[in-house]
Amino acid sequence: MSEIRVRIAPSPTGDLHVGTAYIGLFNYCFAKKNNGVFILRVEDTDRLRSRRQYEDRIYEGLQWLGLSYDEGPDVGGPYGPYRQSERGEIYREHCAKLVEAGKAYPCFCSAETLEAIRKETREKGGAGGYDKRCKALSPEDVQRRIAAGDPHVIRLDVPADGECVIQDELFGEVRYPYSQIDDQVLLKSDGMPTYHLANVVDDHLMKISHVIRGEDWLPSTPKHILLYEYFGWTAPTWVHIPLLLNPDRSKMSKRKNPTSVFYYRDAGFLPEALLNYLATIGYRRPGVEDEMFSLSEMISDFDLKNVRLGGSVFDAQKLKWMSGRYIRETLSDDALWARFKEWRLGDAFFRRLMPLIHERLETLGDMMERCHFLFEREVVVDMDDLPPKGRSAEDVVLALQCLLWEFEGQDDWSPEGIRAAIEDVTAFMDWKVRDMTGILFRVMTGGKVGPPLFESMALMGKDMSRERIRSVVEVIGLPGKKKLKKLEESFKNRPAKNEETS
Ligand code: GLU
Repeated sequence: MSEIRVRIAPSPTGDLHVGTAYIGLFNYCFAKKNNGVFILRVEDTDRLRSRRQYEDRIYEGLQWLGLSYDEGPDVGGPYGPYRQSERGEIYREHCAKLVEAGKAYPCFCSAETLEAIRKETREKGGAGGYDKRCKALSPEDVQRRIAAGDPHVIRLDVPADGECVIQDELFGEVRYPYSQIDDQVLLKSDGMPTYHLANVVDDHLMKISHVIRGEDWLPSTPKHILLYEYFGWTAPTWVHIPLLLNPDRSKMSKRKNPTSVFYYRDAGFLPEALLNYLATIGYRRPGVEDEMFSLSEMISDFDLKNVRLGGSVFDAQKLKWMSGRYIRETLSDDALWARFKEWRLGDAFFRRLMPLIHERLETLGDMMERCHFLFEREVVVDMDDLPPKGRSAEDVVLALQCLLWEFEGQDDWSPEGIRAAIEDVTAFMDWKVRDMTGILFRVMTGGKVGPPLFESMALMGKDMSRERIRSVVEVIGLPGKKKLKKLEESFKNRPAKNEETS
């Protein structure tokens, strides 16, 4: 059998998601069990949303978890570069070959035309896809328009009839009629590839033998299979893994659970407990009763067919229980102390903490009173005390929800960045900044006195700060869906700050 090569391919558009760790775990175990190679590829073709700092967080998070990869952007390897933004020419060349072979075609339709087509095909009862009108352009027309610099994309020519049959290792045979599949854009008008083109070209060139990824990519697989066929390549083995779920069995979302790996790190969960917990909810070790096992034990008898198909419910309470077992059963006192130092009781954290408390101490013994909240997984907030004068609990929850939306896209987690975000939200809500910071102070610290808010939030970290807000929102409860949707729309479409003042 040829070499086993698997990969994870996260996009650096946010902090490392628990779901990426989950898929990473299966890829890692499969590679190690089969003397294979585990690869990290950074899929950063979305220029608007990709950030270098998030790429660094991918490295940081995987390292914390102990999921080390054999090839990747920061460690190199024989099939690099492993960062898609450095592979533009490769995608363009491959796409040109498809156009030459008549398997893809340039499309010059404007956004308005596309919208009109979508509406029309939907009205006719179709899936709302593109109607292939540019495929009918004569070669001369196409040449003339390209020479004239007309903006265009390249689309995949998906057959109008027939169906795609996916042979999936876990889901078995899955069929999709081609009529449901749009002529996918492969190359955007700026010459950048879309996910589908880049992903397939790279998986082929990087000699990926098994694509092990989340179930949410299953509907994209027919496009990928078609690309393999059109290029004349052998497709990898498909393995789609059921997604992580919230306890109510909806797809795991940041509304109901913290989803960033860094929240779990900063809240003081042990990485081996997080991995073990992810393994137990997604994987069944036949004949093994105890749910507590190490990564090397999991690798020793790893088999993809033992992945659970029923969906894996992520329950933070159970994770806490697992983490407790690790702390009690696997660590000596010395080892525990070493973990504390790695976590928050080390020089690096305390050096950042000193300026915040220095001016506020009379004796060394006052320290914990001033900053206990930075070392607590959660704080108790007096909900009755939250609303400022003239505001209701619902006003508070709406304001906090806007802050959560704002922080979601917040790249700058410095005190200044946090201040700007809070001011932006208060301007939108027409609140006094002081009222908002008063609430946030209580949400972050559980009390009324302590070091400055923005600096404390910066030190606490983005994920922990967001989780404190999220848990208060959850306790107070959000208003009905309709009201929330309306708020979200007006918040997200609000005029930019400089437009407001001009
Ligand atoms: N870039 C995709 C993601 O963000 C990769 C999906 C795949 O593994 O094909 O998850």
